[in-house]
Amino acid sequence: MDDLIFTNASILTENGIIKGSLAVKDGKITAVGQVSGQGAKRTVNVGGKLIAPGLVDLHVHFREPGFTQKEDFLTGTRAAAAGGVTTVVDEPNNSPVTNSHETIEGKRWIIEGKAYVDYMLQMAVYADGLDEIKKAREAGIIAFPVFDELGDRPTGMENTGVLYEALKRIKEVDGLALLNCRESDLVNKTMNGLKESGRNTLADYMDHFPHVAESLGGAKRILLAHDAGVRAHFREVSTTETVQMIKLMKGYMGKITAEVRPDHLFLNYDNTKNLGPYAQQWTPLRTKADSDALWEALNDGTVNVIASDHATHAEEEKKRGADNIWKSPPGLPAIESMLSLLLTAVNEGRLGLERLFECASTNPAKVIGLYPRKGTIKVGSDADLVVIDREKESVIRGENAKTKTHWTPYEGWEVKGVPVATYVRGIETYVDGEIVGEPGQGRFLGL
Ligand SMILES: [Zn+2]
Repeated sequence: MDDLIFTNASILTENGIIKGSLAVKDGKITAVGQVSGQGAKRTVNVGGKLIAPGLVDLHVHFREPGFTQKEDFLTGTRAAAAGGVTTVVDEPNNSPVTNSHETIEGKRWIIEGKAYVDYMLQMAVYADGLDEIKKAREAGIIAFPVFDELGDRPTGMENTGVLYEALKRIKEVDGLALLNCRESDLVNKTMNGLKESGRNTLADYMDHFPHVAESLGGAKRILLAHDAGVRAHFREVSTTETVQMIKLMKGYMGKITAEVRPDHLFLNYDNTKNLGPYAQQWTPLRTKADSDALWEALNDGTVNVIASDHATHAEEEKKRGADNIWKSPPGLPAIESMLSLLLTAVNEGRLGLERLFECASTNPAKVIGLYPRKGTIKVGSDADLVVIDREKESVIRGENAKTKTHWTPYEGWEVKGVPVATYVRGIETYVDGEIVGEPGQGRFLGL
């Protein structure tokens, strides 16, 4: 007997939508479409709604340990479930920075028992910690972000020789290099010039990271990653020039994938003018034309992953930037609103429904090595599912958020298409605005 059968469903599979039932036993999908057997302990009639694979979010900052005034693993994963996300990959910019097998073990212990959704962790690479790559890999870590600066010290990765060595070390352990398109020297020089000349508004912040610093940094890292033979994933692609550069370098893209954030798709210079620090983030918002280029890149396959880069801050911290943008920390809450915004774009004809879940569920699961266990609806896959009402209209309100902070750059935005229920390995976790699962049900995923 199955544990759970969904009936009257439109099930989004990789071969299109199948109408019928979906059965779950021991956290795994046992049947899709036609369900035979002896019934189930529980049946849920979803009334014709869509059941899609839960989102796999490769880029979240849940801030624990060290910055729990902003977010923590319980509130972050709660917000994930409310946004239809069933697996997250958490960033290492904690305190202490997660940059060794020991800090990973410490983080695992601290967040144990708090998660509502499944999670992977990352190990940040430092020049003096290259030997840690192998140790972390043996502890189940596959994702290795290679930033120039992290926490309170440079990583040493701004040196091309060291960066190249790090990429080869990641390749040796069959890891995944997570890279940003960012030439830090150029960004920092520009930023310092703006600060020195007293330019301190949101518009000035948007200028501190020149477009060429993104495409140049990306091109250099694509060439290095290609030569090192490492699997490399590029985050926060935000400009027309970077999209064009990736297209030009297609021959180098065999093992290389690229990601876009929802805020670069939906927000730009023009529609955030009044938001001040609430629209400020590490890779700044760009122009409407850049957003249009990203939509095109998403649709034509140049960009193949959507990830939230959920990076919220306490409202007091953000408010510090009201008079001087450089005083507030960069980052936005994003994980809860992402799916509704994307479903609205589907309803408006800007993105195909299948393409949405390819980029937000299936492709990220493939990139991180979890496919077909995650990111798809197939017999044998984990029953990570999101039930969607494609016709339901709603208004985004920070006060309704499950994340720790209650501000959002999308305040008052109308959306059409919302996740109404989320299941993690068949465990009912979120239903109609309420979290119904238990903290600790989410598991660490080692590979
Ligand atoms: Zn980030």
